[in-house]
Amino acid sequence: MPVPVAFMQLSSCWGCHQSLLNAHLGLLDILPNLDIVYWPAVVDFKHDSLKARKDGSIVVGFLEGVARTKQDTANIKLMRKKCSIIVAFGTCACYGSVAGLANLFDKDELIKRKFMETESITDKEPKEPSQHVPGIEEFIVNVKDIIDVDVFIPGCPPTTDNIVAAITYLFTLVGEGPSSLDKNKCVCDNCDLFKEGCFLDKGKLCYGPITAAGCELMCPHEGDMCLGCFKPTNKPGEKFKLLKQILDGVEELDAETGASLQHFLNLYLGASNITNFYFRGDLLQRLAYEPDSFKVKEIETEKGPKLILDVEPTGTNAIDEIVGASLFLLKNDPYFKFSSKTVCSHCDREVADKVPTELKRDYEGLPSMDTCFLEQGYICLGPVTQAGCGAICPNKANAPCLGCYGPPVGVEDQGLKFISSLGSLCADRDVDEVMKAIKDPAGLFNRFTLAASVLGHKYHDKIEEEE
Ligand code: SF4
Ligand code: SF4
Ligand code: SF4
Repeated sequence: MPVPVAFMQLSSCWGCHQSLLNAHLGLLDILPNLDIVYWPAVVDFKHDSLKARKDGSIVVGFLEGVARTKQDTANIKLMRKKCSIIVAFGTCACYGSVAGLANLFDKDELIKRKFMETESITDKEPKEPSQHVPGIEEFIVNVKDIIDVDVFIPGCPPTTDNIVAAITYLFTLVGEGPSSLDKNKCVCDNCDLFKEGCFLDKGKLCYGPITAAGCELMCPHEGDMCLGCFKPTNKPGEKFKLLKQILDGVEELDAETGASLQHFLNLYLGASNITNFYFRGDLLQRLAYEPDSFKVKEIETEKGPKLILDVEPTGTNAIDEIVGASLFLLKNDPYFKFSSKTVCSHCDREVADKVPTELKRDYEGLPSMDTCFLEQGYICLGPVTQAGCGAICPNKANAPCLGCYGPPVGVEDQGLKFISSLGSLCADRDVDEVMKAIKDPAGLFNRFTLAASVLGHKYHDKIEEEE
């Protein structure tokens, strides 16, 4: 059955939709799986038809752009009501992108510049248009601060490959799985080790009792514990109690148990392997990106009360508690590491230490095609930018990375992180000399992430001044 999807455009340049359309014939593989119910960039659907749809009836909703107008804000809320999964599609929807730089000014300044002062205006008495235009918001609020967002695909725009991979992955979540899958049984039901040689009987973590039956590989028959890749069963098996007892007994993770839990959650919850794709429903990824977004709850176990993370990924309470307990252990494990690469890791240039010789503006001199931009003195945000684009700018355009894929896992503010890195790299230099080479720090370091940055916005400053 085709999956109902909607594409909404907010204030933006349509570049993300263009990047999707650039898939050309590559779209043929995914189009039969899509029931497109709203896509004003391509098909003439009416806005009222979207409003008339039943709440939650659209499976995936893509949002491109920022909340610049009151109509954008209303459309963001409308999409949240109608769609089960909301995808922030492109850097505007993820972090505000270049449009977010408007937060350095207040609304009146922006309106004056745009409608009264722009050099191309020819009206003798220019004024702000007032008819058939939506009201303008005081400042750009990041989409995720208006509604809950489930998936983030940054990029200005995301590459076509990124988008097609993300859409294909989302289909695997709503698909029915292989025909052999039997959610009313578990892996143990087909396991030769059930009576003799079971890993759980030996105190080793095997997730067979909570994993749906139907796999032909049967890792236990090859001497490996089941790691749950056939996803949750609806009927946990007899050995579930044993699995729970072993987990309840773990107070602190050793390297082997930590690796087992992480491997299990990766496979069991269907973590994506797409570099720049952040899916909040992938709880392991969420633990890395937003560890403090989980609630903690206390449960009773045979060994007494125990704290776990309050999550409900499977709909079966007993299994949810196993997942919550595993996540709790990993959250407190100093060795828990969710890998997230940066643009530098995909960059083909020769790198020694990234220490700049002298800082230069982009237009000064002609950069070498072979060595790291930072070492040549050009500001390159590769070290603080999420990988995913294939390092297109340094590799193919002889241009430094501007940071359009946003920060990697664990970095809250891309701009601040870069300032701190640059500070370390230029530790031996005169501060005034460094500052002289940087004309517009917010625009340079937070070019794509200002609306999501801790720097705030001018509107706020004004309100604080007035109070
Ligand atoms: S827990 Fe693992 S080893 Fe034991 S019966 Fe189930 S699948 Fe087989
Ligand atoms: S050129 Fe930029 S992306 Fe490449 S290694 Fe240097 S800092 Fe990283
Ligand atoms: S190299 Fe940097 S600026 Fe260029 S596309 Fe990749 S993330 Fe964006």
